Amino acid sequence: MAPFELVAPATPDEAIAELGALGASDAVPLAGGTDLLFDLDDGRLAPRRVVSLRRLPWQTLDWNGPILTVGSTLPLRRLETDPEVRTRLPGLYTAVRAVGSVALRHQATLGGNLGRSAPASDLVPMLLALDAEIDLVGPQGARTVPVDQFVIGSRRTALRPAELIRSVRFPEPRPSAYLWQRVRPFRDISQMAVAVAYSPARARWRVAVAGFPPRPLLVPEVEDALGPVLPPARSDLDRGAHVLSTRAPIVGDKRASEAYRRQIVRPLLERAVRRASGEKAGS
Ligand SMILES: Cc1cc2nc3c(=O)[nH]c(=O)nc-3n(C[C@H](O)[C@H](O)[C@H](O)COP(=O)(O)OP(=O)(O)OC[C@H]3O[C@@H](n4cnc5c(N)ncnc54)[C@H](O)[C@@H]3O)c2cc1C
Repeated sequence: MAPFELVAPATPDEAIAELGALGASDAVPLAGGTDLLFDLDDGRLAPRRVVSLRRLPWQTLDWNGPILTVGSTLPLRRLETDPEVRTRLPGLYTAVRAVGSVALRHQATLGGNLGRSAPASDLVPMLLALDAEIDLVGPQGARTVPVDQFVIGSRRTALRPAELIRSVRFPEPRPSAYLWQRVRPFRDISQMAVAVAYSPARARWRVAVAGFPPRPLLVPEVEDALGPVLPPARSDLDRGAHVLSTRAPIVGDKRASEAYRRQIVRPLLERAVRRASGEKAGS
């Protein structure tokens, strides 16, 4: 690991200034470090300065009526153990628990998962299905970006130089579910994952798939096929599953072929929708 200066500012303005004083590859933010430390260790990144976000007042979880706001540096374990998250956003609860191990989740954060934006992230697909919005702060001030516009490619985000993820907002409680296929059930990367959520306000299903490059995706054609009700009619669920497995832009890579993913995505969607609808469904 190349040597670097570690700073731990106490305010967001100071953190932005520490990042902005050097170029993007010379100064990087550090949250839980579960991704970043590997990048530093293997030389993928060699910044001159690492800016720890640990002292920032962003380890927060606030319910304001139906709206949940999660500070970007809150350890995932705190999100997972909030009783209201489990009942009001069950898909988010499941997706968080899919990340690594309990020990890892004491360290890892939502902001770090978004900052990394890996194609097989377990959180990004759920955030897409829940229409999460990302609050950012940077040298030019604050702005809010829908998660669909924030994650733009494999490990590519809409973050501008010296900009930081401050928090993530979820607009309403939603019946929701997250299911994945892995070689090993836990501590592995998903070959294919499906996140579904039903928006009562919009009378619409949201469906996202993940596990393959370049990034997790919403699939509006499947949402159209599922229709406006919870639970969907059996024929609509069949149609949605058919559309997903035949028309979604699923690709193969070294972890699974396209044919396998197209085959497995169908039962994943059916079970996820049934689970979100309150029916018993397999894991
Ligand atoms: C053993 C192991 C198992 C894992 N299993 C899974 C898994 O099952 N599912 C899964 O999705 N992930 C998994 N991961 C990946 C990782 O744990 C998650 O992506 C985690 O959420 C990253 O959070 P962090 O706080 O550790 O991020 P860090 O490592 O601190 O940062 C990650 C990236 O985001 C940037 N960043 C961090 N915070 C901010 C911010 N507030 N604003 C702007 N940029 C920021 C950093 O500069 C860095 O580029 C695993 C990792 C390990 C080591």
